[in-house]
Amino acid sequence: MESYIRKIYILAIFLVVAFLFLFSGFLFFERHNINTIKKQNSITANQITNLLPSQSDKANSRDEQPEKIFKMVFFGDLMIDRNVGIKIKQKGLPYLFQQIRDSDLLKNRDIASCNLEGAVTNGGQHYPPNNEYDFAFSPEITSQLKDSGINFLNLANNHFFDQGERGVAETKQNLDLMDFNYSGCPDGQIGECSSKIIDINGQKIGLVGFSAVYKKIDQVEMNKIISDAAGKTDFLIVNFHWGAEYQHKFGVLQQEIAHNLIDAGADIIIGHHPHVVQGIEIYNGKPIFYSLGNFVFDQYFSVDTQQGLAVILDLNRQKAEFSFIPTESKQSQPSLMEGEAKADFFSKLAGWSGGDVDYIEQIKSGKLILER
Ligand SMILES: [Zn+2]
Repeated sequence: MESYIRKIYILAIFLVVAFLFLFSGFLFFERHNINTIKKQNSITANQITNLLPSQSDKANSRDEQPEKIFKMVFFGDLMIDRNVGIKIKQKGLPYLFQQIRDSDLLKNRDIASCNLEGAVTNGGQHYPPNNEYDFAFSPEITSQLKDSGINFLNLANNHFFDQGERGVAETKQNLDLMDFNYSGCPDGQIGECSSKIIDINGQKIGLVGFSAVYKKIDQVEMNKIISDAAGKTDFLIVNFHWGAEYQHKFGVLQQEIAHNLIDAGADIIIGHHPHVVQGIEIYNGKPIFYSLGNFVFDQYFSVDTQQGLAVILDLNRQKAEFSFIPTESKQSQPSLMEGEAKADFFSKLAGWSGGDVDYIEQIKSGKLILER
């Protein structure tokens, strides 16, 4: 009987222990489970917060989007009459670009711009007035410039009017038929013909051209055109035909005009006419290329008139990155300067340039980066 009671007693203890064990296990499980759910809830809340973009996130994600870089190239004077015309008759226009064809200068450029020093008349005819230097090009030859990669022509210069009013009218008609972008009025004139706005991938690029060689330009009217164009565009390029021929140093009047242009809203100034390369200046963070010299011409009488500067510009929202590509021509055919000749050219270019020492060092290296 005693052993029976003991068995019941042991069984009771066992049941109580087992119950306590299971109950505590249940309590532990419940508690842990609640914590997990709480944790999950808080993660979900965070995740939701993360899904709602803050203002700075919006800006970041916009910056992270692969951004289109505008690829541009600018050249100086291009003239395809006179001795260049003879070369083209003998060998064809592509001959002129044979040495630079394989470089990336003229490949896939959103804008490839040069100063067209003359009128594009029907059949390349010459009309009155008869000038000592009198340039006219045929539409057939001019259209081949486009095949070579050039897509923008500045017309504001002292030779646009070489074939009179008729030449000016035919030039516009012919360039429209060829689908060229162009801007610029004859020397000293200013007006609607001065500017052109091009839409490239939703960005508005303004191209304004002025010429003040033999005639003065009305700077008040000029500033109006610039500030008006700057208000309508994302990037404003100004071509200016000016300066003293064969002088590497830019003049006081050029500098005064250039600074006015930038104060009025110009983002870059591309100069030409001196037939040699002139210095560079950075004014208020904007570059002024006072003269890019001859690109394609027939002034075979000196080394300097057969050198030119091509300026490559890769542009995005943050910065403008420039590469300077000096060219040297033989019989109107430009090729890329290399090695010591190129280094010599850059140190001369730095000497002709003005302003900040930091920029001078960059000019010597052939690269220039400007924050926007
Ligand atoms: Zn000129």
